[in-house]
Amino acid sequence: MFEVTVEYTFASGHALRGYKGKCENVHGHNYKLQVTVEGERLNSIGLLMDFVELRAAIRSLAERLDHRFLNDLAPFDRINPSAENLALYFGQELEGKIAAQGLRLQAVKVWESDTTSATYRPDAAGAR
Ligand SMILES: [Zn+2]
Repeated sequence: MFEVTVEYTFASGHALRGYKGKCENVHGHNYKLQVTVEGERLNSIGLLMDFVELRAAIRSLAERLDHRFLNDLAPFDRINPSAENLALYFGQELEGKIAAQGLRLQAVKVWESDTTSATYRPDAAGAR
């Protein structure tokens, strides 16, 4: 089994709806995103998945959120822009592209700070 991991950072504002505490107020984070892909077989040049390609896929999603107020952007105008839901969003958007290469998305981790993160892992059976 092989894994490749790419990290990407972006900065966004958000406010958690229904949260009783400081995080219900508008504030920002320097988010760090960590995406890990896994699979059994390497390609003919010894790669599981090209870092450049994975980074480009992440960037195309994250650029839409960078320096924006998440609560105004789909799907976070409907679902809370929590670290958990951000991880779910990136995971669901990336899964198809990764599966098309015969690989699996192992985890998406979203760091809101140096010490706090949330992780999304697709169900092992792929059922959701
Ligand atoms: Zn926050």
